[in-house]
Order: sequence, then C-alpha cells, then structure tokens
Amino acid sequence: MSDRREFFKKIGLLGLTGIATKLVSNEQLKALETLGNEAVQNLPFTLPALPYAYNALEPFIDEQTMTIHHTKHHQAYVNKLNETPSTNIDFQVDDITKCKSIDATTSAVIRNNLGGHVNHTLFWALLKPNKEAKPNLPSGKLAEAIDKDFKSFDEFKKLFSEKATKHFGSGWCWLIEQNGKLSITTTPNQDNPLMKVAEQQGKIVMALDVWEHAYYLKYQNKRADYIANWWNVANWEKAEALYTSK
Ligand code: MN
Repeated sequence: MSDRREFFKKIGLLGLTGIATKLVSNEQLKALETLGNEAVQNLPFTLPALPYAYNALEPFIDEQTMTIHHTKHHQAYVNKLNETPSTNIDFQVDDITKCKSIDATTSAVIRNNLGGHVNHTLFWALLKPNKEAKPNLPSGKLAEAIDKDFKSFDEFKKLFSEKATKHFGSGWCWLIEQNGKLSITTTPNQDNPLMKVAEQQGKIVMALDVWEHAYYLKYQNKRADYIANWWNVANWEKAEALYTSK
C-alpha cells in the first residue's frame, strides 16, 4: 500500500482518479506499464473525514461506537480495497459508478469492501447532530414525495423502522428512488441498491446501517431502540440533495 502510494506521488497521479489516461505523459505511461495492470487500475481509496466530531451525535449514537465504526470498520474496508489485486471493476471511475458495475461475477472481496466503503461514506453524510433533540423531518420535494408514496411521514417512518428492525443479520436499510417512485428496501452484508446483485435497484436517498457494530456497544441486542433514536440524527437535507440529484 505505502509503496503504491509513494509510486503515485512520484508520478503525480495521486488524487487524479477519474482523469483519462491520455492526460498522462508517455513517460508516466511507461512507468505505469512496468507496474502492470493492477497498479494502473487500482488507485488508492481513502477514508473520508467525518463532517462532525465523534461525540456530535450523542446521546443517540455514542462517541465510542462512532470512533470504532469510522476508524476501525470503515478504515478496514478502505485498506482491503487498496491491497486487493486487479478485478473487473474500472478503478478509473468514481466510487458510485464502480458500485454500479458490481454483478454476480465480481469477487467477494471487492463486492464486500467496495460496498462497505461506499455505504459508510454515504452513511456518515446522512447523519447530523441534533443536540436539542428537535423534531427532525424532511422538507421540500423529498417531503412531498414521501407523502405521495407512503401517505405520510409517520407511515413511512413506521414501515422503514419495521423493515430495518426485521432485516435478518447484518445489512442495510435504504430509502431509494426508481422511476419517480420511492421505496424501502434492505440489502445483506455490504451490498447496496446501486449494485446489479441487489434484489431492488435504485438511487440511494437514505441509508441506515443495521450491522451490530453500528449499535451494539450502546444498545446491545436492542436494534429497535437504536433505530428509534437514529431518526433524531438522520440528515434530511443531504437526503433531499441525493433525491433531487441526477
Ligand atoms: Mn457499519
């Protein structure tokens, strides 16, 4: 990993993920060729910084859980991706596009760790502090769509909570949009609705991690309590931005 990072620094490619190789000089291309396809395709992934402090989501999600979840679990997915040899994934494109190309032929190590990386990156962005425990509701176009497709926010909240609580084992609960309609779906492990392997595909609007590592330190086996508290820190502004994005 560090060798690879050093190499990309040297040839000035670090951070240029997504830039077409034709922009790279002949000299750089030659250097890349000597490293083989793996190095060309597999540019380094990085752990994104949280947009708030580890204790910012207290009392709903505790500091210790956030710290371990981000610095150990998410970091491990990133590390694994960076040490994994070449695959059928095009590493020149952004992470969301990479996820969309995951199908039944993709190796488990890429499917699990790329999913883990993308899912957690979305999850952190879809949380926000709420120290005063103010009512936390979507607004604008997303609120209208939720009312249209689920009758009311309360009805949506009930359905989403049930689905997230009942999902068996590790996985995620999602609010997704497809063909102008919102729906709630779950995925096992680190799969997500962007992947071709997902039972129900769509654009991700909201994400909830229901792995035990997301709540066990504070809530132990009481997943329903974790979910009930999560509603206080769901970031509906970010969700609406995802909903209205192309
Ligand atoms: Mn997690």
